[in-house]
Amino acid sequence: MKKVLAILIAISLVLALVSCSTRQSETSKPLVYASFYPIYDLTSKIAGDKLEVKNIIPFNESPHGWEPSAKEMTEIAKAKAVIYLGMTMEDPWINKVKESAPNTKFFEVSKGVDPIRKGNAINPHPWLSPKEALILIKNIKDALVEVDPANRSYYEKNYENLRAQLEELDKQYREELSKTRLKTIVLFHSAFAYVARDYGLKQEPLVGMSDEAEPSPARISELVDLIKKEGIKYVFVEGMAPAKPMETIAKESGAQIMRISTIGTLSKEDMERKADFISLMKENLEKLKKALE
Ligand SMILES: [Zn+2]
Repeated sequence: MKKVLAILIAISLVLALVSCSTRQSETSKPLVYASFYPIYDLTSKIAGDKLEVKNIIPFNESPHGWEPSAKEMTEIAKAKAVIYLGMTMEDPWINKVKESAPNTKFFEVSKGVDPIRKGNAINPHPWLSPKEALILIKNIKDALVEVDPANRSYYEKNYENLRAQLEELDKQYREELSKTRLKTIVLFHSAFAYVARDYGLKQEPLVGMSDEAEPSPARISELVDLIKKEGIKYVFVEGMAPAKPMETIAKESGAQIMRISTIGTLSKEDMERKADFISLMKENLEKLKKALE
């Protein structure tokens, strides 16, 4: 009896060791960093459970003007690949990270997007337009296939699934926004430039391309006049942008405030209600329709 027990214990020990080692191999999936929320969520959807995807710019922080600490740089350098947008969004830090991570591959996924420029500056918000997001996911898929070619068909399948969802969104944006009575979006910073270009709207931001810029009193009164002239009903306060100046504009023009997400990050409230890129894009369309009807 003792002998049987000893054998049983030995067998269970072996089984425990085996299950430990499989668990370990599961956690040692290739590590990929994505620069900020929309890139992170789209990359995660294509990577599925074959890659470990981590986000660089923390949730609930504006992606404009963020920079990594020395510790974060060391962590990023452990990754097999970094997926980033480009179009100047990560300019304050991406080259520093590239230099400190010589063994990491870097993929700029906005290649192929026709950039909107103002002077020398490139507008870095293409993901808010489903049409441009379709370009981003194709580049993300190609990057993941290059990082892990053994799982090519798995990434292709997830990509096709995501592509179908974004094509449906593109269709809805095109159809619904062509029918709105009003065509002008008034908001804090120029996050909806690509949405405006791709779906026949006009954007009137209070400041320029960063939500950390300072508004001018002259521009405030210009927007108040425009809202009155065009009969605009709602002004937007987006994501991490300060509400105060938009409240002033709303008060002086008689318009109402509507909050909208730039999806550049995920707020605490977004996290609690388990919002993601696709659900936020759908919400944005509903908000645009309501504001412009
Ligand atoms: Zn922005």
